[in-house]
Amino acid sequence: MRGLYIHIPFCVSKCHYCDFYSLVAAPELVDRYIDVLLAEADSYGGQSFATLYIGGGTPSLLGPARLEKLVNGLSRRFDLEHLHEATIEVNPESAGSDFLQTAYSLGVRRLSMGAQSLNAEELRKAGRAHSRQQALETIDTASHSSFQNISADVMIGLPGQTTHSLADTLNILIGAGINHVSAYCLSIEEGTAFYRSPPPDLPSEDDQAGLFESAVDMLGERGFAHYEISNFSLPGSQCLHNLNYWRGGDYIGLGPAAASHSGGKRYRNAPSLQRYLDAPLSVREGEERLDDRRKAGEEAVLRLRLVEEGLDMKEMAGRYGRDSINSLEARLDELVRLQMLVRDGCIFRLPPSGVLTSNSVFMEVID
Ligand code: SF4
Repeated sequence: MRGLYIHIPFCVSKCHYCDFYSLVAAPELVDRYIDVLLAEADSYGGQSFATLYIGGGTPSLLGPARLEKLVNGLSRRFDLEHLHEATIEVNPESAGSDFLQTAYSLGVRRLSMGAQSLNAEELRKAGRAHSRQQALETIDTASHSSFQNISADVMIGLPGQTTHSLADTLNILIGAGINHVSAYCLSIEEGTAFYRSPPPDLPSEDDQAGLFESAVDMLGERGFAHYEISNFSLPGSQCLHNLNYWRGGDYIGLGPAAASHSGGKRYRNAPSLQRYLDAPLSVREGEERLDDRRKAGEEAVLRLRLVEEGLDMKEMAGRYGRDSINSLEARLDELVRLQMLVRDGCIFRLPPSGVLTSNSVFMEVID
């Protein structure tokens, strides 16, 4: 399976916690961006993909006409006839009914909405550009535009957040009809407004862990399977594009800061809109061809993120050969001994208590 990721690096304003590559740009620049992105697409001409994911930034800022130009342009360059899934990320302040109806008419069937919270104070402190009402209206409008697959991003550990406000956010979103939740723990990254001026009411690490556990419990009670460290879905509603990524599949990313992994090579585009606009093919950097041992280690880390499915060493042996995975398996067994992983036959998984501390496990897994 191959995935196509399109990065739209524009936002209406910068959220206080955000370190993604996105900026506030003039409309003329956005117009030019689509042309340049399609020029980058030309360099991969003719490939076929099973999933399409338009992310950002804020893709809904494109508006209906630019989205149409983008998707039609991609369809002329790639074989997108047999897509199993097409997702677009939207933010409530810019996802009106024209945009959502256009997206649906172009074959997009899955929305990923940046809600983060439905609490007015939490939204304000996080610097989000939308209100609770706008988020709920977006879900309502999307449902009326025939979307049946709607995911919401929810942030865990926002300033002032409590288990009560988090439960309210999740309950109301679920009641409004979403079938997927991405629940990310807030971390304070360099270069963000929160880094420059940390909010006084940030939950402590322990409080954040408690909030995350309360979300896991609540989503479980509402029938959402915890299928990846930060992702939860009703049956049959997992994100196929991201599943392909976590299973070590191939994907191509277009746009500044987009990463690609294809044919045993990986590389990324530099995070510079200006350089990209000047010469989109000159920003590819960090190209690496990994040997089987290294590839197996990196894929193991991705697959361990799939908390239910886990890492199947029989499958890994089939893919990379026994010799390439022997030392990996020994490291995994050592982590089982230290109770940082559990083993069930040939499948390794994170224990439920290890989900929040998975990064320390992953560092041990990588040779
Ligand atoms: S909308 Fe998303 S990408 Fe844009 S600034 Fe906020 S968090 Fe970052």
